[in-house]
Amino acid sequence: MASDLTTANPNPDFKEEVREFFSEGIPENWRTRLRAGLRLEPDELIAYQKKLAARGWGAPTWPKEYGGTGWGPQQLYTFWREAANAYAPNQFHQGLELIGPIIFSYGSDEQKKKFLPPILNGDHWWCQGYSEPGAGSDLASLRTRADRDGDFYVLNGQKTWTSYAHVATHVFVLARTSTEAKRQQGISLFLIDMTSPGLSIRPIRTMDEKHHTNELFIDNVRVPAENLVGEEGRGWEYGKVLLDRERMVTASTAIFLQQTVAAVRDAASRRKIGSSLLIDRPVFASKLAQFEIEVRALQIMVRRLMADAARGAQSGPRGSMVKLRWSQLLQAGTALWVEALGPEASHFRALTGSPLDEDMPYALQGALYSRVTSIYGGTSEIQHNIIARRALGL
Ligand SMILES: Cc1cc2nc3c(=O)[nH]c(=O)nc-3n(C[C@H](O)[C@H](O)[C@H](O)COP(=O)(O)OP(=O)(O)OC[C@H]3O[C@@H](n4cnc5c(N)ncnc54)[C@H](O)[C@@H]3O)c2cc1C
Repeated sequence: MASDLTTANPNPDFKEEVREFFSEGIPENWRTRLRAGLRLEPDELIAYQKKLAARGWGAPTWPKEYGGTGWGPQQLYTFWREAANAYAPNQFHQGLELIGPIIFSYGSDEQKKKFLPPILNGDHWWCQGYSEPGAGSDLASLRTRADRDGDFYVLNGQKTWTSYAHVATHVFVLARTSTEAKRQQGISLFLIDMTSPGLSIRPIRTMDEKHHTNELFIDNVRVPAENLVGEEGRGWEYGKVLLDRERMVTASTAIFLQQTVAAVRDAASRRKIGSSLLIDRPVFASKLAQFEIEVRALQIMVRRLMADAARGAQSGPRGSMVKLRWSQLLQAGTALWVEALGPEASHFRALTGSPLDEDMPYALQGALYSRVTSIYGGTSEIQHNIIARRALGL
């Protein structure tokens, strides 16, 4: 197996195999929305997950013993790149990349048996219950409590911004089991069935006029003690595994930025301004070239990040640099795409002939949705802080 990205791919047919897989079975109306920088709907992402699982590719980054592919960075890069080229979606990551790896790293054998296969097969959809109204960037100030009561923990509190809680079958929740120790030490991680009595949600609509996120109310929710991950009070520590996984999630999403480059180029190649095409106008051509150069530069950083991850090496601030740059470029790219479409941006959906009955046109939705990327997964300011500390020693 290739251990870094400079080693030749051991299987020369792999690229062809992946390309063939993606050339079939990605519906045109998925591609249209992905071109616009939008996510697919949950039922479509589940169908996609099932399709990948049936092919043995359900968990590209997981080790083989848990049903993953065991791919090295070269194969992962090829896989994501071909997916991006084919306008296939990126897999939904909260089960696959957030809680799945915590379960296989720290969970009990029963938890592994019970929870890993349905993540892989797309039967369970997980959401992340970390942020609270008073605890976002400063997550250690979270106040949701978990009190032991016999074979159960009883949880009370409120989470917010819980993406896709309205479709999730399960939620993983950080809650305080002790107020005695250092703030980070009294926190535990729980796996909770969304049908548990006492859990309720209220939608938050974001400015793209969609319902992605929710408030999650936790009112005397009884969670079996066997659903505590690892040891009580060590949930914060387990969360650190996410730092490693998140750099892979960011790496894959950064690879998908090439879809935005293609969308801008396509729109500018069709848009006439007077007698010339927008793409031939020097000012616009230069903006597009600059955007593409920056996307390529980011992808080189991504390949380094993936090689580090494969070697188990620390990337220093590189994960934060990629996250920061990716969100900046996605926002700049979708704005450029709206500019390239011009008036068409306001009725782009109609041109696609999509049967969706929502009012917001895709182009604008994509541009507005991109704003959240500098907030979730650690805000841009927090990433700047990390870079300052780790790269500049400030
Ligand atoms: C669309 C969306 C989906 C989300 N999905 C989920 C989810 O599924 N599960 C989940 O648990 N959370 C989720 N979040 C929450 C997200 O992780 C938090 O919004 C994020 O961590 C910021 O926290 P906050 O909103 O409390 O803002 P705050 O932490 O209050 O920050 C407010 C402002 O202050 C700045 N700031 C804060 N601290 C510092 C500092 N030390 N130095 C410099 N500047 C600082 C921030 O950058 C920001 O600009 C989601 C958020 C959004 C918008």
